[in-house]
Amino acid sequence: MKGLCVLGSTGSIGVSTLDVAGRHPDEYRVVALTANGNWERLAEQCEAFRPSYAVMIDPAQADRLKEALKAKGVTETKVLTGSKALEEVSTLPEVDSVMAAIVGAAGLLPTLAAARAGKTILLANKEALVMSGPLFMTAVVQSGAALLPIDSEHNAIFQCMPAQYRAGQQANEVRRILLTASGGPFLRKALSELHDVTPDQAVAHPNWVMGRKISVDSATMMNKGLELIEACLLFNTPADKVQVVVHPQSVIHSMVDYVDGSVLAQMGCPDMRIPIAHAMAWPERFTSGAEPLNLFQVKRLDFEAPDFERFPCLQRAYDAVRAGETMPAILNAANEVAVASFLDGQIRFTAIPDVIKHAMDTVDNLKATDIDAVLEADAIARRVADAYIAQLT
Ligand code: NAD
Ligand code: MG
Repeated sequence: MKGLCVLGSTGSIGVSTLDVAGRHPDEYRVVALTANGNWERLAEQCEAFRPSYAVMIDPAQADRLKEALKAKGVTETKVLTGSKALEEVSTLPEVDSVMAAIVGAAGLLPTLAAARAGKTILLANKEALVMSGPLFMTAVVQSGAALLPIDSEHNAIFQCMPAQYRAGQQANEVRRILLTASGGPFLRKALSELHDVTPDQAVAHPNWVMGRKISVDSATMMNKGLELIEACLLFNTPADKVQVVVHPQSVIHSMVDYVDGSVLAQMGCPDMRIPIAHAMAWPERFTSGAEPLNLFQVKRLDFEAPDFERFPCLQRAYDAVRAGETMPAILNAANEVAVASFLDGQIRFTAIPDVIKHAMDTVDNLKATDIDAVLEADAIARRVADAYIAQLT
């Protein structure tokens, strides 16, 4: 029986994780759940899974959660509050696996703490890895933690890697990684119309149902940019060995091209429970609840090269990963600020890459010697991005 901590349990990945955990009560015990707000959903999850701890970041919502648990007769769950409590629960001795499913930079410290504590990390929170890069990978290697990618593409690549492969190792028999991308909702939209797209249009992904931030990232293709950086780190590969392939059907979730010319692909329905179940059962397999893939319904698979003019964010990510050091953290922070401003109706969709470019051109790329240097770069990039947006509006 493995103890599970779900960071960000009320989000899209968190809910899918608990769906999978609920199918395997003999293999997983839920020890801790965490959320930013949404006490109602966290209360329901606590009632269903009876964790030892529930963290609610917002103190007022934590009080509501306590009252709700009392009313439901849930006595075994201790409610904690504040962001320090995330690190407390992600490193508990009774926790074996940590699902890192907080969105954005807020997930970095508890995920890094879990890696340092040698936990098995089920990594959905790509922003945490993009920000901390080699520091995170070193923490994983030094503690002997297992790192299993949840992002569907990286999970697919992991599945196509040689047997016994562990994240962070170099695989010399691999020629290239083919990172697939759906192209998002604006793959075919006239360039002149992108200026006026609304947040609701941007979050309406053609194949996947996800949180709002990652949905906007998919529309700008910054999601693929962050995933490019994620792939370079997880698979110890330079950016020029990662080819982004637009594949609108999202049936192939990515591929590995070997030196002998063999190309291995992982396929499946677009359901995040598949990579989640793969990582939770690894190195074995168990059921996920996903529908079987019906190839007769799929009929055809299309591929095309990415359009860097339509999706300037993708180019920014190649620039950031090549620059290294704190530049990926600068890119990520500016993107988080720009996406939040777009979702709030403050800036246009087409201003998102401009905000990122401005931050990357303005903020010094300093050595990422330790996590404080990364957090400092993140904070400066946020201030620079905010000031630029204030000028635009
Ligand atoms: P979401 O917005 O649906 O959920 C985010 C979760 O994080 C919620 O539980 C929320 O309460 C919590 N959270 C938000 N801000 C927080 C803060 N400041 N402090 C503590 N907790 C906070 O997001 P999601 O779509 O589930 O994505 C989660 C992560 O997984 C992201 O990094 C995303 O890129 C990655 N991911 C998601 C998908 C997907 O299909 N949704 C696929 C691949 C990767
Ligand atoms: Mg993905």
